[in-house]
Amino acid sequence: MTSIATLGSHCALQVLKGAKDEGFRTLLVCEKKREKLYRRFAFIDELVLVDSFSELLEQHCISKLKEQKSIIIPHGTLISQMSSSQIESIEVPIFGNKWILRWESDRNMKERLMVESKLHIPKSLSSSSEINSLVIAKRHGAAGGKGYFLATSKKDYEMKRNRLMSQGLIKGDDDLYLQEYAFGVSAYLQYFYSPIHNKIEFFGVDRRYESDIDGLGRIPAQQQIDIDKISSFNVIGNSQLVLRESLLDEVYSMGERFVEAAKKLVVPGMNGPFCLEGVYDENGKFTTFEFSSRIVAGTNLYVDGSPYSALIYGEPMSMGRRIAREIKIAMEKNQLPKVVT
Ligand code: AMP
Repeated sequence: MTSIATLGSHCALQVLKGAKDEGFRTLLVCEKKREKLYRRFAFIDELVLVDSFSELLEQHCISKLKEQKSIIIPHGTLISQMSSSQIESIEVPIFGNKWILRWESDRNMKERLMVESKLHIPKSLSSSSEINSLVIAKRHGAAGGKGYFLATSKKDYEMKRNRLMSQGLIKGDDDLYLQEYAFGVSAYLQYFYSPIHNKIEFFGVDRRYESDIDGLGRIPAQQQIDIDKISSFNVIGNSQLVLRESLLDEVYSMGERFVEAAKKLVVPGMNGPFCLEGVYDENGKFTTFEFSSRIVAGTNLYVDGSPYSALIYGEPMSMGRRIAREIKIAMEKNQLPKVVT
């Protein structure tokens, strides 16, 4: 019997709950320090205990997953804990397109895919000497906003960069990517693309609550100025959002353009869940500063379905469950290779 496996973090609970609801056996690769947490949930059939997630690459884990006929559901933790080459080398089927995860981790490839998708994106800067407006300095990979900072000039940038270097968070300029800061209302658009039905589904939207940038608004301006601290963008949690209905048509178009571009640039394309991340300006125009080419943790909000999945499904449909449903349909149709790599 096929089982669904994932790493114990990020959105593991939602993914395995959804898999169980669809009738799969579930397996969690779990760090020993988190065993107590995950044992609380009856829908997890088996825990494979490890000291660190890098053990996923070792034979004892791989053999276990193969023996259980597992399909791995990739999420943010997999990407942040392993290099693209390591992920690509895993000899167990991975849901979606494992090759596209490299396009998420590499800033240049990422930009290329967003340009090909004809998304409106903020300008990137090739060096700090180009800074002449508000920019955000971002670390590479799925850093989750930790160690990101804002700067308005080269001098400001260098001061903050040096501070992060002394904290050991970065080694130098090469670890940072500079992008114009996009003003507006942030929105993280969650999609699912089914290669079986050749159809995109808009699944939900969330906002992130990021420490400490989102806490700053609670402090009067005078005290903000006096605080000698570099504000980071580390995600702490997510909150729900629904969009004006008039924005939805463009939401679908952006998702479809992304799927089309991915089919061209990284075969077999953007299969499964993904997220376009950005801000809406005063005219309802969306600027995309980032994408995730796998399930995002913001979908954890909608374990019982979202205001958008409810329009498509007559039953509670989380993103985790939608993934399991796609695997189930693919198996029934003898088309599993279409949904895994
Ligand atoms: P990311 O890792 O790119 O998702 O960025 C983490 C956080 O930094 C986002 O959730 C936003 O709050 C913020 N951010 C990233 N890029 C931009 C940008 N170009 N303009 C405004 N905010 C940004």
